Amino acid sequence: MPELSEIRPKDRHRVMDLVKAAGVDVSDWSNFRGGEKKAACNPKYCYEWSFVEPQNVVVLSLWYESMQVQNDEIFQSLNYRQTSDEFDEIPGRNVWKKRALKMDQAFQEAMNDGLPVRVIVCEGPRRGVDQPKTEASRVQKRLLDVMPWAVTYYDHETGLCTLTRGASPIRDSDKNEIPPAVRILPMANDLDKEFPGCASIEDVQQNYFLFELQSRENGSYYYRKRGLQAEPGTIVLFQCQGCIIASASLTGMQRFEKPTDDGYFGCINFNVMSIRTFKPMTAEVIREIWPSFNGFSMAKQELDPSNYPEFKKRLERVMQPEVPPPTQEAIDLVAPPERVHEQVYRILRDSELARRVKKLNDYKCQICGHTIEMPNGGFYAEAHHIQPLGQPHNGPDVIGNIICVCPNHHAELDYGVLSLSLSSLRHSTGHNIAAKYTDYHNQIILKSSCRR
Ligand SMILES: [Zn+2]
Repeated sequence: MPELSEIRPKDRHRVMDLVKAAGVDVSDWSNFRGGEKKAACNPKYCYEWSFVEPQNVVVLSLWYESMQVQNDEIFQSLNYRQTSDEFDEIPGRNVWKKRALKMDQAFQEAMNDGLPVRVIVCEGPRRGVDQPKTEASRVQKRLLDVMPWAVTYYDHETGLCTLTRGASPIRDSDKNEIPPAVRILPMANDLDKEFPGCASIEDVQQNYFLFELQSRENGSYYYRKRGLQAEPGTIVLFQCQGCIIASASLTGMQRFEKPTDDGYFGCINFNVMSIRTFKPMTAEVIREIWPSFNGFSMAKQELDPSNYPEFKKRLERVMQPEVPPPTQEAIDLVAPPERVHEQVYRILRDSELARRVKKLNDYKCQICGHTIEMPNGGFYAEAHHIQPLGQPHNGPDVIGNIICVCPNHHAELDYGVLSLSLSSLRHSTGHNIAAKYTDYHNQIILKSSCRR
């Protein structure tokens, strides 16, 4: 769980040193009359807000006080194209206007080339655009965030950009293209039944869309009774409690030979890279975008796809799933949790998810592979919540926090006599365990049992 204070700058490092540490070639900085000695003060570079090493990395200076935290993510929403327009009103601020436009170009370059963004976090007295007479902002402290960021949203029409800490770079393959179709998919209103552990729309966005759906093979969304007949590439808008709360691009549909025990008749598959959650959008806003919209119902309404770019433009607080880090090194960068999750989850004995995890793993222990065959021909295994549910751990009931184990190993985990390593756990497709939970186990459960 990221703590904003972790990236609060404590020292005043030089921009050149940080930019260099981020992987940008700074050899040209000494190329002025100040020479090598004063390279760090080269006015051509040292006041810039953005630095691009083509095909490699983008470095941006961002203000600490503008950082936002939501759904356990640190991000900033910025619009430097708009900022550059605002500088037009201030005489003598051409340089700032240029820097703002350069910043906007850096966002686009990061998006188009899928480049990681390194952030120089700055703190100090800041000048507001609306206070033209005050002095320029003065950075008193700055640091280079160790964790890479990425552009997770960029609107080419407006310049609105979201940068998210720890997200993977995503190439902008769908620049305001018009999808073949846009459909509304009504979801069950009974959140607790469909999404165990979720009490609010925000829980569903975080636990289901940003975590569980993307961790399932093919981004499978299970449906009851009827699915959605639509061509691949169709944008599905998920309707929940009188709002649109998420969107994703459909890749196909699959009807099960027979319904599952839980009453699911099939699944709709989604491109997990396309999953987005955002500030819930009400019927009024949808009607402004699509005047023919009938209001929310149980119908899977079709909307005119040519208005979809307008919909995208209206999105706020856009989030996308956290993609599993590609290397062990990146996992190490995730700081140990210093506090437990604030939300309160209802504790369920063997939730639906726990049953699904056991099924996904064929009832085999993910530590030793053992399974217990019952006299009736069935199999027995147990589900363990790695970060335990309930006080004081308050772990979530999500698929990434559950493993399937034999009773012996279950006891060893409960009593904290066994550490967990992601790489040695037996793995089944469609079930990804999140490193933050095994880290929690190793750092909190294991240690507290040592003290007992
Ligand atoms: Zn076992």
